[in-house]
Amino acid sequence: MASRPIKKILVVGGGTAGWMTAAYMARWLENTDIQVTLVESEQIGTIGVGEATVPGIHQFIKDLDINEPEFITATNATFKLGIEFADWAGQGKHFFHPFAGYGVPIEARPFHKTWWSARQQGYPEGLEKFCLCTQLARSGKFAQPSFDPESRLAWYNYAYHFDASLFAKFLRGYAEKRKVTRIEGKVNHVQLDATSGFIQSISMESGLVIESDLFVDCTGIPALLISKTMGVGYEDWTKWLLCDSALAVQTKSVVEPDPFTRSSARTAGWQWHIPLQHRVGNGYVYSSQFISPEQAHRELLGNLRGELTTEPKLIRFITGMRRDFWYKNCVAIGLSSGFLEPLESTSISLIQTGIAKMAGFLVDFEINEKHVAEANRLNRLEYERIRDFIILHYKLNGRSNPFWQHVRGMEIPESLEEKMAMFSASGDVKLQENESFKEDSWISMFYGFGVEPRGLEPLADAEKTFIIMNKMQAAIQKGGDYANSHVEFLKTISD
Ligand SMILES: Cc1cc2nc3c(=O)[nH]c(=O)nc-3n(C[C@H](O)[C@H](O)[C@H](O)COP(=O)(O)OP(=O)(O)OC[C@H]3O[C@@H](n4cnc5c(N)ncnc54)[C@H](O)[C@@H]3O)c2cc1C
Repeated sequence: MASRPIKKILVVGGGTAGWMTAAYMARWLENTDIQVTLVESEQIGTIGVGEATVPGIHQFIKDLDINEPEFITATNATFKLGIEFADWAGQGKHFFHPFAGYGVPIEARPFHKTWWSARQQGYPEGLEKFCLCTQLARSGKFAQPSFDPESRLAWYNYAYHFDASLFAKFLRGYAEKRKVTRIEGKVNHVQLDATSGFIQSISMESGLVIESDLFVDCTGIPALLISKTMGVGYEDWTKWLLCDSALAVQTKSVVEPDPFTRSSARTAGWQWHIPLQHRVGNGYVYSSQFISPEQAHRELLGNLRGELTTEPKLIRFITGMRRDFWYKNCVAIGLSSGFLEPLESTSISLIQTGIAKMAGFLVDFEINEKHVAEANRLNRLEYERIRDFIILHYKLNGRSNPFWQHVRGMEIPESLEEKMAMFSASGDVKLQENESFKEDSWISMFYGFGVEPRGLEPLADAEKTFIIMNKMQAAIQKGGDYANSHVEFLKTISD
């Protein structure tokens, strides 16, 4: 395949993926004569969920030069310091996955190992006490982190919860201001070039035919271009991730918004709680093999606080990934490229990294076979690593219902088995190429679920180490005392 130059880009679909892509392109291609067009259908609509993010979102905001307070106000966003996992490790047990690490090394030994040895030698405090991010979250507080190299104990990151429809609207405004053309209507046919198999054009119900050089498939789960037209297959991962349905519903806020997402284990899956400034997003992600939609509906409604403001919406999905997210002149971004359940809020991040790969491998604005192959390789790794991290949550669960027993006993990918074995043996986490979740995240999961590393050296001088650890903990507590409540902090943004 010879390199093919790009003069026109057509984004098909105007959900989160479509408008993130169009906004990014608008900024990136500002000083070129490449035209960007987006087609979307109000009649079809968007999936309407996807409101919790990970800290990588800052890069997107930075790349687009978006003003953070303006963005927070426009999307009714709140701050997110991590995720609380309630009842996953066993009924009544809670732990927190923070956007941060724990403590600082003592005598060059990773802090969590020192802490674990200290625990064996009688130290009373849990690991969470050594994480400012977790302490802020637990006390409903928020402050902008400081990355002062002198105060590593204060390092943490944050993300947002936002209203998905307001986010798409905000990005649409951004993109249209920067010369992205939006066309309303339904695409009903996609024409391929008979010789090359490249997409030539799309036809709209209105009769309009739009030609382009690069087509970005943001049509969501139907994957109209990459799957229905080009026939690129899908790798199904439901043998590891059994949840295949979600019931999503919005409620009125009845308490101040927490600065974190809550994931509560339920009979055959888990329930999300995503607090925004003006309302709460809720949903039950479950396996239809273990519970009926009616039972899931009852369980979800029985576990909500606040009046319902929408009807529960049932969404079916197949967990897995598109075999190639980039095929010839079509790139799939968003749900058309794959789906991993929102347990760690990774879909928007995958949209973002998908866009970055597309832009990064469109060297000199040309499609080149080698670059496409490398983009696909990296995309696969990224998906597989996140998949493993999500499977870990199920594999380590401490619950007793049939669904949970089943997932605890299931076979898991070898790549994950190796990580688990290594941590159990030595407390080490060996990251592989293109991991989205770094050591700190794995560590929070392992300890959160009660995995006990074997073979760690005892402390040579426990008394001295306990004193250092107490000082660390006191410094973290003091740092937390200075912070405002999350709500007060949000007020300073809107004032
Ligand atoms: C239950 C659930 C919870 C989730 N929670 C999170 C979360 O907390 N965090 C997170 O990061 N992600 C989450 N996600 C994922 C997130 O919702 C999606 O990644 C994100 O919304 C992107 O969707 P999309 O734009 O690919 O698809 P959609 O929102 O479905 O948009 C598809 C677009 O294509 C258009 N379209 C389709 N067919 C045609 C056609 N023939 N002609 C014209 N236009 C067409 C539609 O009109 C629409 O504009 C969640 C997903 C689910 C299912």
